[in-house]
Amino acid sequence: MNFFDFHHHDADRKSGIYNLKFNEEAPGNFFSAGIHPNAVSDDFDEKLIWLQQISAHENCVAIGECGLDGLIGVDEELQRKAFFAQIEIANSVKKPLIIHCVKRFSQIYQFRKLAKVPMIIHGFNKRKTIGDDLLKNGFCLSFGKSVLYNVNLQDFVKHLPIEKLFLETDSADFEIKELYQKVADLKNMRLEDLSEKIKNNLQNMQIPI
Ligand SMILES: [Zn+2]
Repeated sequence: MNFFDFHHHDADRKSGIYNLKFNEEAPGNFFSAGIHPNAVSDDFDEKLIWLQQISAHENCVAIGECGLDGLIGVDEELQRKAFFAQIEIANSVKKPLIIHCVKRFSQIYQFRKLAKVPMIIHGFNKRKTIGDDLLKNGFCLSFGKSVLYNVNLQDFVKHLPIEKLFLETDSADFEIKELYQKVADLKNMRLEDLSEKIKNNLQNMQIPI
């Protein structure tokens, strides 16, 4: 069975959504393209032009990762500008946004209102109260390796509406199947049913799998 890896950085992996690097050639499989907050600098215009072009590619299924990060040395006003510009691109190509958010959840909601496309917080591993607020505000959540060992997160995933759920390896080295199995156990579902539900979620966001 093929388990969809919602966000990963491995160019050799043929399944899931590969996070393309700046100026990298579009691959033959699904990818996302965006400007990570870490890569935002005064001259991010050049990257935006690249993004405008690559975002129209048929294999580009999402914009991102992009967002806000409170732990890096990049000017936060600039981060917000770059994030906003990417939301506009996502709106124009009608593709979902894969969001990187670190310590800026209180600011992320105002951006949600500007997006006309789904927003998925990737690598979610925070408290239930933050997760509940995000769900209430219309975000979807993608979970990674933390679910394998974080008991609070496991409890949150157990009760999370399945329509809001995606699973990813990001840059961690483990088998995505292991994570699917864990979540299937938590939700008391069969592995293949979980995989089907997540495929439905992808199709609902016009990701053609
Ligand atoms: Zn990533």
